[in-house]
Amino acid sequence: MDRLIAISSENDIPLGYRGTLIGHLLEYHNLSRPYEAFTSAQLLIGMCMDNRKHLRIPDNFAFIIRTGGANLRYSEFKVSYAIAVGNVRCIALVGHNQCGMVNLVSRKEQFIRGLVTNAGWQAAAAEEHFNNFAPMFEINNEIDFILSEVQRLRHRYPSVLVAPFLYKVEDNRLYLIREAAAS
Ligand SMILES: [Zn+2]
Repeated sequence: MDRLIAISSENDIPLGYRGTLIGHLLEYHNLSRPYEAFTSAQLLIGMCMDNRKHLRIPDNFAFIIRTGGANLRYSEFKVSYAIAVGNVRCIALVGHNQCGMVNLVSRKEQFIRGLVTNAGWQAAAAEEHFNNFAPMFEINNEIDFILSEVQRLRHRYPSVLVAPFLYKVEDNRLYLIREAAAS
């Protein structure tokens, strides 16, 4: 089964999201929906820090938190702030393919060498740093991680609409990730 839902027209947007801010995000980015004017953020977008991604969205439309792998587990206060003070009721969590947070261990030597060369670290300190933090940021598989993180966010913020996305770096388009029980 294809795990991604391609959005090439409004009819591709699942009914549960059509007309919501999740649907609007898809329309802005994939369907060239004309920009509306916003004076405050409408939703929170969590996405990876990876440089290959750029969203087509209007000014003021969204708070954006960028982290390795779109992992919001260590950004909880910022998420809470966006909801509590920024009044957003909707979160789009956007993973992407070819994410550097997958199989981190394969880049351990590169990471250590890079900190030594680029940052002036001692190799032993760089290795300890990697060993301490890599397990926190390893995501194993982009799609599975986004689905699990979306479940966690829904549980943590039950009144907030949370939706799972994947950004494909080959075509720069947003896809919804298919969920077992989703429409
Ligand atoms: Zn990434």
